[in-house]
Amino acid sequence: MSIADTLQRLQQRMDMAMRSCDRNDAVRLLAVSKGQDARAIRAAFAAGQRDFGESYWQEAQKKQDTLQDLAITWHFIGPIQSNKAADIARRVDWVHSVDREKIANLLSQNRPANAAPLNVCVQVNLDHESTKSGVSPEQLPEFLATVRNLPGLTLRGLMAIPQPRDTENEQYESLLRLTRLRDALNHPDYPPLDTLSMGMSDDLLAAIRAGSTMVRIGRALFGERS
Ligand SMILES: *Cc1c(COP(=O)(O)O)cnc(C)c1O
Repeated sequence: MSIADTLQRLQQRMDMAMRSCDRNDAVRLLAVSKGQDARAIRAAFAAGQRDFGESYWQEAQKKQDTLQDLAITWHFIGPIQSNKAADIARRVDWVHSVDREKIANLLSQNRPANAAPLNVCVQVNLDHESTKSGVSPEQLPEFLATVRNLPGLTLRGLMAIPQPRDTENEQYESLLRLTRLRDALNHPDYPPLDTLSMGMSDDLLAAIRAGSTMVRIGRALFGERS
C-alpha cells in the first residue's frame, strides 16, 4: 500500500475512534519519521501530511536540510542533549520532550526573537521508570511553573510514553492519568494546556479515548523502521 493510502486509512481509523467516544474536537496526527528516509517524508507530505516528528537530532537535521523546500511543521520528540538544545530551539516548531530546567532554559535563550515562540510539551515519566526521561508527576507543578515563565516558549501541554500494557482497557486507564494531570495543572493565570501528546502505533485508539490531542505515529504509517 502507498503512503497516501496508509495515511488515509489511518485518518479514517482516527475519525472512527473519535466518533465512537463522542469526541467532536480534533486530534492531530504527528508522523514520526525517525528511521525513515527523506523520500518517505516527501511522499507523506504530498499526501497532505504536514506535522513530522524526529527523535535523533543529527538524523533530523540532515532531513531538514534535504527537505527545505517543503513547508513542514517539525516536532522534536526525543531526549535532548544540552549541546544540541540551541540548534533545536532555532530549527523546530515544537518540542515534546522538555524535562529538565537546564534544557528549558537553553531552548528559551536560543529561540530567535523574530520567530514565533517555541511550542513545548513537558514529558512526564508516568510509571517512574528509571530508564525513561520525563518529570515525575510529583515534580510536575514546580517544573511547569518554571517553564511557563520562560520567554520564547509557549507551554502547550504534556507528553508521555507509558509502559506497554496488554489490553486496550489497561492502556486507556494508564493514559487517562496524563489527562487527569493536565486537568489538575491548568492555572487561571495562564492559557489552558491544550495539548496531550500521547498515543503511538500500538495504543492509538486507547489514547484517543483517553483524550489525546496529538498522536505520534511511526510504524503504523511508514512501516517498520530500518
Ligand atoms: C518512535 C516514537 C514514536 C512512534 O512510535 P511507533 O510505535 O512507531 O508509532 C512516538 N513517540 C516517540 C517519543 C517515539 O520515540
